[in-house]
Amino acid sequence: MSSSTRRDFLKSTVLGLAGSSVLAGGKAIKAEADNASKMIINELSRSLPVFAEADICVLGGSCTGVFAAIRAAQLGAKVVLIEKQSSFGGTATNSMVNVWHSLMDTEFKQQIIAGLTVDVIERLKKRGVVKEDSHNEDVGCSFNSDEMKIELDEMIKEEGVKPYLHTFFSMPYVRDGHLEAVIVENKSGRGAIKAKIFVDATGDADLCYRLGLNTYTSEYLQPPTTCARFSGWDAVGDKFNQLFREHGEEFKVPLGFVWGRAVPGSDVYMLAGTRVYGVDCSDAEQLTKAEMEGRRQVRAFMDMIRKYVPGSNVVLQALPSQIGIRETRHVKCQYQIKGEDILNGKRFEDAIANGSYRVDIHHQEKPGLTFRYLDGTQSYSRPGYPPVKGWWREKTKINPTFYQIPFRSLVPGGYGNLITAGRMLDADLVAFSALRVMVNMNQTGEAAGTAAYLALETNTPIPKLNVTKIRKILAEKGSVII
Ligand SMILES: Cc1cc2nc3c(=O)[nH]c(=O)nc-3n(C[C@H](O)[C@H](O)[C@H](O)COP(=O)(O)OP(=O)(O)OC[C@H]3O[C@@H](n4cnc5c(N)ncnc54)[C@H](O)[C@@H]3O)c2cc1C
Repeated sequence: MSSSTRRDFLKSTVLGLAGSSVLAGGKAIKAEADNASKMIINELSRSLPVFAEADICVLGGSCTGVFAAIRAAQLGAKVVLIEKQSSFGGTATNSMVNVWHSLMDTEFKQQIIAGLTVDVIERLKKRGVVKEDSHNEDVGCSFNSDEMKIELDEMIKEEGVKPYLHTFFSMPYVRDGHLEAVIVENKSGRGAIKAKIFVDATGDADLCYRLGLNTYTSEYLQPPTTCARFSGWDAVGDKFNQLFREHGEEFKVPLGFVWGRAVPGSDVYMLAGTRVYGVDCSDAEQLTKAEMEGRRQVRAFMDMIRKYVPGSNVVLQALPSQIGIRETRHVKCQYQIKGEDILNGKRFEDAIANGSYRVDIHHQEKPGLTFRYLDGTQSYSRPGYPPVKGWWREKTKINPTFYQIPFRSLVPGGYGNLITAGRMLDADLVAFSALRVMVNMNQTGEAAGTAAYLALETNTPIPKLNVTKIRKILAEKGSVII
């Protein structure tokens, strides 16, 4: 391209750049890039095709979003489900996190979680790709993430949900203060999905954030982790923690926390050992940095093993299609769940979910995790060191055995046809560190899908819904409602 042609090209593509001078050549391109974050372009207004029209549109297709879509479809709504990845399941599949925690209370006396979580486990069991561990506080079951992808496809087809994969939500379309549609991008271009009710299950609260609703992040975000699958892992096994403690620094891998599980129905092992500190994965540049740093750390593990466990034959078999993101934005809703609500097992009249997973804070400021249990004990763990055990409160004879999630912590207000589901829920740092696990988030999806259906059927804004009725429908459909 000649300088003058390039000049014309730049002029035509940077319309609306306030005060920019257009120069020729590579320097100009570099200057454009350097200034990019300070500049604004005015997107030309244009007509968009409507790709689909539905009663309910669910954004984000992890199990949370899939369960919201399935619940609403089972009740009779026409549902569209939008997912940016090539498959459904979110962190459980595309980030390889293959563990669901206990469905029982902390004493293993009462089942507190059922619904679609149990349906999926039962279906995967039939394929021999689940390992149950019913009396383990750490693991309820481990599963094969790839088999789960296929099972979720089947369930979506069976329930008549209209799926869109490789489809990225970008902007809401609001007219006269009413959320009418969402704008998405995919291989067919840019288009709209119209619906009467919307469920934001994007994890990062992309819809709520772009609507300008009140979102917030914790004082420090729990760090993301790139999981990886290895063959031949038995040769390293438990030795890895010690190896990590002794040689992590040499390979520039921050000492965080390491856990992993064999992948049922396969001969590979899933390891979650990397940590990328100080990044907010709802920011595009920081997410990019996190992805690349997470992969570098996986390679560093391989180099560490090659050097210090020679002849072990550990082979890297697969990386996830997305880094595992623990936390980004939360949405300010009608109620913020507090750490003390969880640790004291507070009961809520509008409870739509129950959980027993401990408080599990992944530290940003130091290696390791702190666990706090409902029985008053706590434990600080880091790789290669024995856990430091103690009490976070005085010992008592009777302890709570589970906690609850109130419906209000999913309801943002502002738009009567919008509800959230999943890790964006309104919770403080301590509460979120327990609530965030999938068996809990799955239930928020089921509740959001049920509420969306009820809002549609009764023509009632979501914040004004009769929660007793939501609880009743959930119980009738197989959820444990207490
Ligand atoms: C490394 C790691 C280990 C963990 N370990 C466990 C564990 O052992 N057990 C456990 O239960 N929990 C664990 N957790 C926590 C748990 O996995 C998450 O808290 C939970 O999966 C969050 O669910 P979610 O549906 O809210 O979000 P996500 O799983 O993040 O799902 C969001 C979905 O929305 C899609 N999406 C996002 N933005 C858009 C957009 N703009 N357009 C279209 N689609 C979009 C994403 O692709 C994704 O499918 C772990 C988390 C991590 C990161």
